[in-house]
Amino acid sequence: MIYLDNSSTTRQADEVTALMSEVAREDFGNPSSLHRLGLSAQNRVTLARKQVAKALGATPEEICFNSCGTEGDSTVISGVAESRRHRGNKIITSAVEHPAVLEACARLEHKGFEVVRIPVDGECRIDMERYEAELDERTVLVSVMTVNNETGAVMPVRRMAEAAHAKKILFHTDAVQALGKIPLAGIGADFITVSGHKIHGPKGTGALYIRKGTHLPPLLPGGGQEKNMRSGTENVPGIAGLGEACRLLEQESTEKMASVRTYLLEGIREQIPDIRVNSPEDGAASVLNISFLGTRGEVLLHTLEEDEIYVSTGSACSSNKKGRSHVLSAMGLSPKEIEGAIRFSFSRYNTVEEMDVVLGRLTAAVNRFRRLGSFR
Ligand code: PLP
Repeated sequence: MIYLDNSSTTRQADEVTALMSEVAREDFGNPSSLHRLGLSAQNRVTLARKQVAKALGATPEEICFNSCGTEGDSTVISGVAESRRHRGNKIITSAVEHPAVLEACARLEHKGFEVVRIPVDGECRIDMERYEAELDERTVLVSVMTVNNETGAVMPVRRMAEAAHAKKILFHTDAVQALGKIPLAGIGADFITVSGHKIHGPKGTGALYIRKGTHLPPLLPGGGQEKNMRSGTENVPGIAGLGEACRLLEQESTEKMASVRTYLLEGIREQIPDIRVNSPEDGAASVLNISFLGTRGEVLLHTLEEDEIYVSTGSACSSNKKGRSHVLSAMGLSPKEIEGAIRFSFSRYNTVEEMDVVLGRLTAAVNRFRRLGSFR
């Protein structure tokens, strides 16, 4: 099996699985309980909080555990809108955000907020001039992702956060695809969303960084866990697994991933004509999005699947919704270019040897479809 759909989700690391089963078996106490079992569960949570904080360049007090990236995005967007409504009703985001952000913003639009979606160019680069021009006294929040999930484009978050702060506007970044791929310390955001299952951690886990001194209304009222932000008994094995996944990131460099990606890209350029590389040159090492003109990405995906090679046509979350990729559309790609797009996304487990196999199968599949000509 060759798994190249790591932006959809990753294989859970064996170290994470081992730790989670140990915690579930032995430290099953409630972290709020005063006895020894409660304390050892609490210790697991405390350690994980340190590990996640380290990965984000934050302090442990700034980390709130939650259930996923979608929850983090929604918590910030709806929370800031609610708590700052008295100041203004404008939210700025980009046209290429994940649906977790776009839909949360759309919901606010129905409640009377103005949502500005900053456009991108053909390389998925955000229009900074337009962005800066939109920042005004009515704006209460900016939410722009760190790394795009479909193209790997890295957004200039630090610059954008500085510009927002100069106007006293809060800045959120969805760093779900960035954690472990680009450094997040000092990125300058007030809120950062991350998710466990994109970094070989457990599904159904995530964390939200809330900068010290920044107010956000509680998501779930109740017993007061997570400093009152998100009540409910903690998912201790999941939290421990997320911490371990962050610890493992420390031992990893993105160099190997980058060389695997470059090897595949160069091979495709040599062997397959009529392509459009949709990922920018300076994008993250984890994503390579390419349109194979005169083919259909979905058909290529299923052909590769027969050889146990797993890729994606866009983001998993958007590909189970009908319709074309909103990211590639925003980049101005033609319907034919969008139709032929495949996303290869990498992890620490991928190798150059695997890419030789992928190249052979992919070239054969593309040639076959082009010869048949039925998709032209
Ligand atoms: N944000 C981005 C950029 C993503 O790529 C994803 C998942 O694909 C999410 C948010 C949602 O994360 P989760 O699946 O943890 O809810």
